[in-house]
Amino acid sequence: MNFDVAAIREQFPILKRVIDGNPLIYLDNAATTQKPQCVIDALVDYYTTCNSNVHRGAHRLADEATRRFEGARDIVKEFINAPKREEVIWTTGTTEAINIVANGLSQLLSTGDEVIATGMDHHANLVTWQQACKASGAILKIVPVTDEGELDQAAYAEMLNERTRFVAFPHVSNALGTVNPVKAMTIKAKQFGAWVLVDGAQGAAHGWADVQDIGCDFYAFSGHKVYGPMGIGVLWGRASVLENWPVWRTGGEMIATVTLQDATWNVLPYRFEAGTPNVGDAIAMGEAIRWFSALDQVAVAAHEKALIDRATELAEAFEGLTIIGNAKDKIGVLSFVMDHGHPADIGFLLDRQGIAVRTGDHCAQPLMTRFNVPGTARASFAIYNTLEEVDALFVALKKVRTMLA
Ligand code: PLP
Repeated sequence: MNFDVAAIREQFPILKRVIDGNPLIYLDNAATTQKPQCVIDALVDYYTTCNSNVHRGAHRLADEATRRFEGARDIVKEFINAPKREEVIWTTGTTEAINIVANGLSQLLSTGDEVIATGMDHHANLVTWQQACKASGAILKIVPVTDEGELDQAAYAEMLNERTRFVAFPHVSNALGTVNPVKAMTIKAKQFGAWVLVDGAQGAAHGWADVQDIGCDFYAFSGHKVYGPMGIGVLWGRASVLENWPVWRTGGEMIATVTLQDATWNVLPYRFEAGTPNVGDAIAMGEAIRWFSALDQVAVAAHEKALIDRATELAEAFEGLTIIGNAKDKIGVLSFVMDHGHPADIGFLLDRQGIAVRTGDHCAQPLMTRFNVPGTARASFAIYNTLEEVDALFVALKKVRTMLA
């Protein structure tokens, strides 16, 4: 097994930070991952050497910028095993990617059509469908979440019928870490001819976004959660679906012809990329994916599993701590509450010890209601985290509990 966590950490300059005299322990990776030096360098190099607008320039810099920008699209295509490069649409992130789909969907649905989302979705993958259903008169159905924090597959199977037009679910829950059986869920939805969107914001970081294997129609993810920059992300869509999907923003680049009264639309991917794109961040996202993909993925998976297994084992043995979400298949996230103290207090007192976690509803308010908690404290892990850091979290939590008791 070829995985040297110390060598990985060396590539992340931010991990050298000291917070109030304590070495930073960064456990907020589900919110955003840190960036390796090569990603930072890619961004600086773009602005230092070839900053230019893409596609339309008649000069060297525009040509170089276009090659790098389109090269990054090719890297994404390989990463998610997309059949065609033009199916990769640059967006500002998962939220915009899902909104592009929802905007089109609201025009394609009719009264009485049915849409299915889940009780564990991030608001980005829930409020969007609520709005699309409100605009079109379609009915929104929600797959319930079990006590373990899994999607109730029997209920899901019952919900599907010939009126189901669209199904959306998360690859991995950002609030619980549950890994959903996305391929099996897609197969079921496809039996009724529904379009399927997988919210891959938390799935892509584990290198599992094989869109052909999953069989979905749309897959959305963000650069900043896969060791890349903020402000850039991807919507992958099956070409045969995207070609007929209503356009999103209108303006330059997404048109083919324009008269004073009308316009026709460009081919994919430009049809969904109106205006000047975020060239530098797309290039840096490509670099992040190139960097991540070059790692030994079997070793990465083993390391990530070791982190969540150790965290779960220590959490289960920790007096006064309740884990929220005990799914059989879980990755990257430990969500919990304690008998003493609000999650916000826990987060504050961990921060004083140099440990960064997230607290609150994690943009999943219905899920917090489902578990009857105001929010949780969430420690989330990335490939540069160590077992020693997991141990340090629980040492720090002991102090927190003493302070809050
Ligand atoms: N979906 C999930 C599961 C997420 O975890 C997040 C972010 O935390 C999003 C969607 C939204 O991603 P972004 O804010 O990068 O658009």
